[in-house]
Amino acid sequence: MLFGSEAQKKKYLPQIASGEKLAAFALTEANAGSDAAGVETTAVRKGDKYIINGTKQWITNGGEAEIYTVIVMTDKKRGSRGASAIIVEKDTPGFTFGKKEIKMGIRASATRELVFQDCEVPVENLLHKEGTGFIIAMKTLDASRPGIGSQAVGVAQGALDAAVEYARGRVQFGQKISSFQAIQHMLADMATQIEAARALVYATARMIDSGVKNVAKESAMSKLFASDMCMKVTVDAVQVFGGYGYMRDYPIEKMMRDAKITQIYEGTNQIQRNVIALHLIKEAASKKKK
Ligand SMILES: Cc1cc2nc3c(=O)[nH]c(=O)nc-3n(C[C@H](O)[C@H](O)[C@H](O)COP(=O)(O)OP(=O)(O)OC[C@H]3O[C@@H](n4cnc5c(N)ncnc54)[C@H](O)[C@@H]3O)c2cc1C
Repeated sequence: MLFGSEAQKKKYLPQIASGEKLAAFALTEANAGSDAAGVETTAVRKGDKYIINGTKQWITNGGEAEIYTVIVMTDKKRGSRGASAIIVEKDTPGFTFGKKEIKMGIRASATRELVFQDCEVPVENLLHKEGTGFIIAMKTLDASRPGIGSQAVGVAQGALDAAVEYARGRVQFGQKISSFQAIQHMLADMATQIEAARALVYATARMIDSGVKNVAKESAMSKLFASDMCMKVTVDAVQVFGGYGYMRDYPIEKMMRDAKITQIYEGTNQIQRNVIALHLIKEAASKKKK
């Protein structure tokens, strides 16, 4: 959507939008996580083809998706300026999948390794221009981080709803636990934090939809705030359930496990803080120049 040519958009987007085909985004490697510029997978141009070699790690929808955007190095010497983004379709010879990861949470989502061994793709599959892969990856994350924010808001809302229901039913000391102020205050804090996160995520989504160009700071803020909120709210929800919260009888322990990933993927929350601080400092410097 952000960098595809008209021909690429026509070919791929309708199939993805209709749900006919799933897509995946492959940046991370064993030695390149937060330091995304350390990508080692290479693509070498040979006539009208790129030959891709390397391995991507922990790719969401890996093996399930039909269309992969893969960040590769087309010119290693240039560092992050030598990265490019290439579309690779499933079933391309030389493109296979490694093991499916066994995870703490989001276990309904497949996470797999992608393996490229002399995988040939047509040069038309290059997104935008050679050397813009790192910018494509960063701009993609700017647009997708509020999606993780919304995932976090949803998990937290689910946990709150379950906690309120449970508190209304559970009786101890001859009364509903919802009558204890300690429980009421936890529920009140959970609800307030969820609303604050929801407002920030929606505000960032509105900025993106209305075409604001640089949303890196707000996007990082919405992912950071909503995911930290989600972790806290789901831990507190388990507390409202007491021992039952720790058991698999209720969905609440699953929500707590699912919350954790939102603090890690699409850039850890330490990286989000780095992005926010960098923009604050840049903004202050450019104000001073004016
Ligand atoms: C379930 C799951 C699904 C994923 N899906 C995808 C996907 O679809 N596509 C994809 O490309 N990737 C995917 N990832 C990868 C994910 O984006 C990375 O795991 C994440 O960016 C962190 O990289 P890392 O795990 O290598 O941690 P590291 O970079 O090794 O970080 C380890 C710790 O050091 C901290 N740290 C690192 N650098 C700094 C710094 N400069 N300042 C402060 N602290 C720092 C981190 O915050 C973290 O706490 C997925 C990961 C998981 C677990």
